[in-house]
Amino acid sequence: MTGPKPRPEIFSVHSYVGGESKLPGHNRVVKLSSNEGAFGPPPAAIAALAETGLDIHRYPDGGMAALRDAIGRTYALDPAQIVCGNGSDDLLQLLIQAYGGAGTELIMSAHGFSIYEIAGKLAGCIVRKAPERNLTTDVDAILALITPATRMIFIANPNNPTGTMISNAEMRRLREQAPPDVLLVIDAAYAEYVDQPDYDGGISLVGAGNNTVMTRTFSKIYGLGGVRLGWAYAPPAIVDVLNRMRGPFNVSATAAAAGIAALGDQNWIANGRAHNSRARTMLAARLAATGLKIHPSAANFLLVDFLTPERAITADQFLRARGIIVRHVRSYGLPSCLRITIGTAEECDLIAETLKEFQDISQPALTDG
Ligand SMILES: *Cc1c(COP(=O)(O)O)cnc(C)c1O
Repeated sequence: MTGPKPRPEIFSVHSYVGGESKLPGHNRVVKLSSNEGAFGPPPAAIAALAETGLDIHRYPDGGMAALRDAIGRTYALDPAQIVCGNGSDDLLQLLIQAYGGAGTELIMSAHGFSIYEIAGKLAGCIVRKAPERNLTTDVDAILALITPATRMIFIANPNNPTGTMISNAEMRRLREQAPPDVLLVIDAAYAEYVDQPDYDGGISLVGAGNNTVMTRTFSKIYGLGGVRLGWAYAPPAIVDVLNRMRGPFNVSATAAAAGIAALGDQNWIANGRAHNSRARTMLAARLAATGLKIHPSAANFLLVDFLTPERAITADQFLRARGIIVRHVRSYGLPSCLRITIGTAEECDLIAETLKEFQDISQPALTDG
């Protein structure tokens, strides 16, 4: 049979698999598989969604002026240097299409976010993965992979699924030592959860030159994953490129309205951050007390190491049987780990108690000395 043939790169990737949300036999599930903020969006965002329904026959403003103004006010940025997207994935893909392509190389971290690899291969790039140190981005390892064909470096900071991050100083060192014509993309999807006082998500590096971009999302602390909304802060020449490439109406009117309303409730965001820091510390301690290995996390999830792939699978099944969905991260090269989103206090309690039960029945009794 002959038929239309897509470009061969298409078959070099598998389609992205998101966190599951349903379990057969369970009417209610506790979904801790996609790092959606524990409390959902601010109430004003839900009200704004209902209101835009009345105007839904109108096209949105393709330039997203009102949303860019609101982002600019919230984060003290020039709205002219902001581009909005249908989720930050949209912008990551556009950047790769613009600056990558056949014959170019893209560098990411060994356990970096999978979208970079998928979008990179689809664009025909060679994707190179730099080894990590303690499951943390290693700037020297990234620098060592740079060749004349390198066009882009993608770093999620903090990274998903490891939860680890590098300091502003390390990120600056990477920028300074990488060639100036290599685009550095800092994916700061978890920026609002970071406690480190000097962390700025990459804003100062974007402002300092013409070759660094920061991407952000409304899918995590803002609780708006379902509407699809993200943004990039970029130097003017890259803003121009993204505006030429993006779909003319790549952000829906409903997403924009919800985003503007959500930005207006920074108390909600501050509460979400404070809850996350407390709950993350507590959950990490409770899980560690059962003998599990917990990696330090700066984001709204924990990477929990069960030491063998078999135990991770058994734990995943144990949780599912009790209506709890987390994320097995074998596709990230971490087959002995589960990634668990920090939910509400009740959800954290439930996961702590359930995994304690799992540890009690599945672990050989610990002996002293
Ligand atoms: C969740 C996540 C995103 C967000 O993607 P959206 O398309 O904005 O929903 C981006 N990068 C990383 C590392 C993430 O974990």
